[in-house]
Amino acid sequence: MTRDGEDMRILIVEDERAIAEVEKAYIERDGYSAEIAADGLEGIGKFREKQFDLVILDLMLPGMSGIDVCREIRRSAPIIMVTAKSGEDDIVAGLDAGADDYIVKPFSPRILMARIRANLRKSGTAEDSASELIRVGDALVIDPQNLTVKKNGEEVSLTRNEFMILSKM
Ligand code: CA
Repeated sequence: MTRDGEDMRILIVEDERAIAEVEKAYIERDGYSAEIAADGLEGIGKFREKQFDLVILDLMLPGMSGIDVCREIRRSAPIIMVTAKSGEDDIVAGLDAGADDYIVKPFSPRILMARIRANLRKSGTAEDSASELIRVGDALVIDPQNLTVKKNGEEVSLTRNEFMILSKM
């Protein structure tokens, strides 16, 4: 099920208070709710306590690193990693640890919000895949998410091209 924007909860894990407050202000201006955690342990604690739809995660945190936080919470919600360094190594390490996206500081708030929307959309479609089945008559069921077609309950083997043609009919 998709939810209204105002029900979306975003966790900001960021040790620089000023940056965290700016992020929070923009997130709330777009109608989402936001909470700030000042370090990795607090972030994981909050994440386990409540349900968040997305996490903005600073890579350079005191104590527990953003990479370790990423490993702890990945797959439970989309993670946008925020890094002060633009070094390829940091970006690769973050993505390898399970981050879904990254932004390099200093970033424009508009880009941050666009990335948030894009990642929420992606995770929303994944959850909704079951409801996006296309039914053709009684016999044929097309699943655009998983690229499968079932005829009378049995999977039909199709190439990607055949699938694309069929799903546009
Ligand atoms: Ca930091």
